[in-house]
Amino acid sequence: MSALNSSSLHYPQEVAAVAACLQNHQGPIVVLAHENPDGDALGSVLGLSRALRAIGKSVIAPMEVPHYLRFVVEPGEIVSPLSEWPTDALVAVLDVDNNDPARVAGADLTTFSGTVVNVDHHGTNLRRADAGVVDPSRPAATMIVADVIDALGVPWTEALATPLMLGLNTDTGNFAFESVTPETFECAARLRAHGARIGWLTEQLRQKPRSYFLLLQEVLGTLEFLWDGQVVLARVDDVMLARAGASWEDVESYVGLLRNAEGSRLAVMIKDFGDRVKVSLRSSGGLSAQNIAVALGGGGHVPAAGATLSESYVEARCKINQAITAELLRASSSTPA
Ligand code: AMP
Ligand code: MN
Ligand code: MN
Repeated sequence: MSALNSSSLHYPQEVAAVAACLQNHQGPIVVLAHENPDGDALGSVLGLSRALRAIGKSVIAPMEVPHYLRFVVEPGEIVSPLSEWPTDALVAVLDVDNNDPARVAGADLTTFSGTVVNVDHHGTNLRRADAGVVDPSRPAATMIVADVIDALGVPWTEALATPLMLGLNTDTGNFAFESVTPETFECAARLRAHGARIGWLTEQLRQKPRSYFLLLQEVLGTLEFLWDGQVVLARVDDVMLARAGASWEDVESYVGLLRNAEGSRLAVMIKDFGDRVKVSLRSSGGLSAQNIAVALGGGGHVPAAGATLSESYVEARCKINQAITAELLRASSSTPA
């Protein structure tokens, strides 16, 4: 898979087409995002669902919301994953490529035959939907959802602005990443003007359960500094989880800690599930996490990407090492990624 990381050339038209598709659909609209949802996935789903409900649409939003994000969900607005499709449904897939059914969560897209719209910002998106807008220049999918809501003509409220701000906050590392553009701040200003509760979001997200710290103790015991400290890698498995009384979601932010190691250009956090592994990658200094993820069959953004390998840790680790080596060699012999 190759990545197309430039901004969408027909952005306003694509936003208008997605909005029209949603507006014209008379049946239920099922709103989905990626497995293991983050703040951008949940924020996109909540923002779009609430906007569509405000204009009288019937919306079903199935998701397994991680504990640390539940504070933003109102009772009844998110349901458990669907086992069958409602009649006459349209599907809106947010913050993930609709062509990657293994990553789309909440319902089985492989068994769906109706209209699919896609709103995403991953460069590795294949861009095949009935109506879609994919813009990697926007650091959060919620930025695009905000434009879809404008195109739908839904009046802005705090209840729309806050979840969209959640996506901006989490996908930009609180507006700290290089991916932040002037438009990002303009969008944030717009959401704040509409009442987005940024202080509340920050306060809620800041709190970590005790299990987070106990598991971190375990994970730091696996830390490896490779390539003279340019690569920092750690691993976690369910035995460590059990010892710490933790869950997989406690692991999510560890890769962000690893990338803070002085002199590092690549942070690698490996979740070892036994028969498969999930790799989270964060890069800087001319390295592309995306290239490594793509080489491993995954995808994502240049500085933040991931992949799942259906093999044991030992087998997967070999491939991971090879992909890292290839990317370090590529970066040392070419212009920045
Ligand atoms: P994560 O390491 O899971 O936080 O993911 C980092 C970024 O890469 C996020 O934007 C994910 O949506 C994306 N990503 C993670 N795994 C994959 C995958 N297997 N395929 C495509 N994108 C992925
Ligand atoms: Mn996401
Ligand atoms: Mn995102």
